[in-house]
Amino acid sequence: MNIAENLKSILNDIPETTKLVAVSKTKPKDQIMEAYASGHRFFGENKAQELQEKWKELPADIEWHMIGHVQTNKVKLIAPFVSLVHAVDSLKLLSVLNKEGIKNMRIIPFLFQIHIAQEESKFGLSIDELYSILNSDEYSEFSNVKAAGLMGMATYTDDKGQIRSEFRFLKQFYDRLKKDFFADDEEFKEISMGMSGDYSIAIEEGGTIIRVGSSIFGSR
Ligand SMILES: *Cc1c(COP(=O)(O)O)cnc(C)c1O
Repeated sequence: MNIAENLKSILNDIPETTKLVAVSKTKPKDQIMEAYASGHRFFGENKAQELQEKWKELPADIEWHMIGHVQTNKVKLIAPFVSLVHAVDSLKLLSVLNKEGIKNMRIIPFLFQIHIAQEESKFGLSIDELYSILNSDEYSEFSNVKAAGLMGMATYTDDKGQIRSEFRFLKQFYDRLKKDFFADDEEFKEISMGMSGDYSIAIEEGGTIIRVGSSIFGSR
């Protein structure tokens, strides 16, 4: 497994405008530094504590993405530095993020995680839940969080047609939301979808950020 080569072949494979978040969860710092040495700066983790530890010990110019579910009591660990929180799925979490944003005197960019998979276990908001958040008074008063788009995880399946239709659904929903709520908002522009097994489909369907772990760092 050559990390730099894996990265290069994925980067060659995707449009320049697509952001590749290298998912380094469970992987040691020396492997992250291999990717870093090859020029990569965008990394993703799914546990707040692990993310905080790696942020403290690794170069300051790394852009860190929180890609996993965030417990409200862990927000303070990542609020000072996180570049993008991918999986916001409640008003409660948003309210804590906003509070920590204020404390840290920064605006924390985030994506709403939308439930697009068939499995019930996956986290994420329904369309109705998201509309009720966006229409709430509480949401309109948040000063230190910034919606940057949507994130979704497809069903864990070999059925490429199924995956494609879930990604297509997310893109269509994004377009509708953009029109209804974010028409004049240039910062609401991202769709985070696609992992090692399905990032090509995600890009074809309009994804702007892909989150790739095992195809870069090997299996976990
Ligand atoms: C682990 C993880 C990924 C990366 O998965 P791979 O199949 O290893 O590419 C992407 N997104 C989320 C939310 C993850 O937890």
